[in-house]
Amino acid sequence: MSKPIVATTSLAGCFGCHMSVLDIDDRILELIELVEFNKSPINDIKKFTKKCDIGIIEGGCCNSENVHVLKEFREQCRILVAVGECAIMGGLPAMRNGIPLQECFDEAYINSPTVKANEKGIIPNDPELPMILDKVYPCHEIVKIDYYLPGCPPRADLIWEALVALVTGDEMKLPYEVVKFD
Ligand code: SF4
Repeated sequence: MSKPIVATTSLAGCFGCHMSVLDIDDRILELIELVEFNKSPINDIKKFTKKCDIGIIEGGCCNSENVHVLKEFREQCRILVAVGECAIMGGLPAMRNGIPLQECFDEAYINSPTVKANEKGIIPNDPELPMILDKVYPCHEIVKIDYYLPGCPPRADLIWEALVALVTGDEMKLPYEVVKFD
């Protein structure tokens, strides 16, 4: 029987959620027995080569490239899982959402005390660069998301259990402390 095919990507995230995937330690050997990886920074496959069963998304959308990649994942993957707070709610990058975009650019490229090498005050504007969005969007505001794995990052055991449940068709169970904070 062919293995389920998994793809992963990092959008506006810090790769911490991917690190948590790798943090399943030696179970990674079991994982590669269970699934086949397609497009993913884990194996450095940069383009989809076939339709996938499960797409794992880290990070929300802060620019046009993120939106393009997320829509491609929705097209290519039967199930999409938003992994981590950035994918689910925008996370840390969304802290800029209350600040006008021009103010963010000015702070990043002109006014910040750490900006030394930009004497002409140029804000990057090459047409090749992805367009920065007005705010950082959680994934579900761009495409349909099937499952959410909370955490920053979700702990390795949770990712492992969720993946095994998805692959084997079992119910995905989130422990109480992962979804409630009382
Ligand atoms: S949820 Fe946390 S660990 Fe994951 S990408 Fe965002 S900041 Fe990084």
